[in-house]
Amino acid sequence: MTTNIKNYINGQWIESKGTEYLDVVNPTTGETIARVPAGSKEDVEHVTDTAYKAWHEWKNTPAVRRVQYLFRMKQILEDNVDEIASICTRESGKTFSESKAEMIRAVENIEVACSIPKLMQSDFSENIATGIDEYFIRQPLGVGACIAPFNFPIMIPFWFMPYAIACGNTYIIKPSEKVPLTMTRIFELIEDADLPAGVLNMVHGGKETVDAILEHRHISAISFVGSTDVAKYIYQTGVKYGKRVQAQGGAKNPVVVMPDADEDTTVRIIADSAFGCAGQRCLAASIVITVGSAGDSIIEKIVMAAQAKKVGNGLSQGVDMGPVITRESKERIERLIQKGIDDGGKVLTDGRNIRVDGYESGNFIGPTIISLPDASSEIYSTEVFGPVLCLIHVENLDDAIALINSSRYGNSACIFTNSGNAARKFRNEVMAGNVGINIGIAAPMAFFPFSGWKESFFGDLHGQSMHAIEFYTQTKVVIERWHDEWTRKF
Ligand code: NAD
Repeated sequence: MTTNIKNYINGQWIESKGTEYLDVVNPTTGETIARVPAGSKEDVEHVTDTAYKAWHEWKNTPAVRRVQYLFRMKQILEDNVDEIASICTRESGKTFSESKAEMIRAVENIEVACSIPKLMQSDFSENIATGIDEYFIRQPLGVGACIAPFNFPIMIPFWFMPYAIACGNTYIIKPSEKVPLTMTRIFELIEDADLPAGVLNMVHGGKETVDAILEHRHISAISFVGSTDVAKYIYQTGVKYGKRVQAQGGAKNPVVVMPDADEDTTVRIIADSAFGCAGQRCLAASIVITVGSAGDSIIEKIVMAAQAKKVGNGLSQGVDMGPVITRESKERIERLIQKGIDDGGKVLTDGRNIRVDGYESGNFIGPTIISLPDASSEIYSTEVFGPVLCLIHVENLDDAIALINSSRYGNSACIFTNSGNAARKFRNEVMAGNVGINIGIAAPMAFFPFSGWKESFFGDLHGQSMHAIEFYTQTKVVIERWHDEWTRKF
């Protein structure tokens, strides 16, 4: 029998007050593995009241004590990597090693947040005028919430949550309804960290739950990660209700290959970037732009590397790539591939109609590469979010940069070259917030902000690092006067 997932509110597992449930489907086998609440406004009312009450005590718990819970959380996650990673693989389809890599990035963020006693320190100026001192204090905002996407069920809530609670906020995580099991298991395990009830909560659901979060008067800050249209909606609605919002959206990431790039390294890194996690990474390479005399030989090698990828169950040894998340997603990707062909694209390797023995009901698409005559096709400008790489050729680096800068997205852009000048020009001129130089996935470490630009990000302060701390605190400036004659008598 499939289990109904519960919410975690005030330190307890509680059934949703909504009556509707959605199936959670294993994308490798097509089996329903659990049922998740479709969500309700009442659940959000309940969780927010709880978190708001807990905040009053938590904000005055000394930072050095708050981080002790995070140290324990880190240890618990590290002790249970394999179990959490296998649940993640089961519900998301990514390979076991990709799930484990997510855990490492999640834990990294806890480690950075553990420095909060130092990171929350402020500035003090004595004698800004005679007998007057001025300083500021960073104070938490109240209740924060994270609305997460399906593609990194472990890592993404940790771009925000450890910082938010370390700063003295209380928190609500809403996982993607497509992958609710991983975070549910993480919450079960981290109960042993003994956080005070109400500090960290989880509520499941879809649009109704999100809308209730956006509107609730006691939620002060929202961190969203997902597709661009929803990110824009979250940003605009959250701001309308007076909240602080950071909303990370979709992407279409270009990789420029210069004629002097080291071929073998470039090929290996591009193939991993484009087809790892079945292309469902917001930093995945999705367009390769070859420049000048860079061309046939490198393309031939990328095609060979794509064809060598073993597609299958992410829990099996030796598998490089799992399925995409849903049947609808698979159909959408296949439709976009066909559109690329109809628009004059040449398919160099076609992953449609792949057969994975034993997993006939899985949402598999093999690595696919399409060479495009120009940038006019829908597949060039649309985020595919699947294992599909488009190729395009330009004459020089200026043309490559101009092409990249004409995109609506600006999540990441990478260049492969041995020329310091080309790399420096690219770094300076390209309109993207995460830049890779001889790197295929320019994913910032936890002590740097995750810097999407353009329609890949709505807001001001990003996730991770000092940005997360500034996002989850507000500054209070204090100006004090203590006249000499008042203090002389002591
Ligand atoms: P999604 O936008 O469909 O869903 C994200 C979250 O929003 C989920 O929790 C979902 O329940 C909620 N949601 C969906 N539709 C909604 C609506 N109409 N109103 C209110 N809430 C809604 O995204 P997804 O398919 O889960 O994730 C894939 C997308 O996320 C891709 O576009 C990818 O590029 C993006 N992504 C971006 C980053 C980044 O750092 N920029 C990182 C990971 C994923």
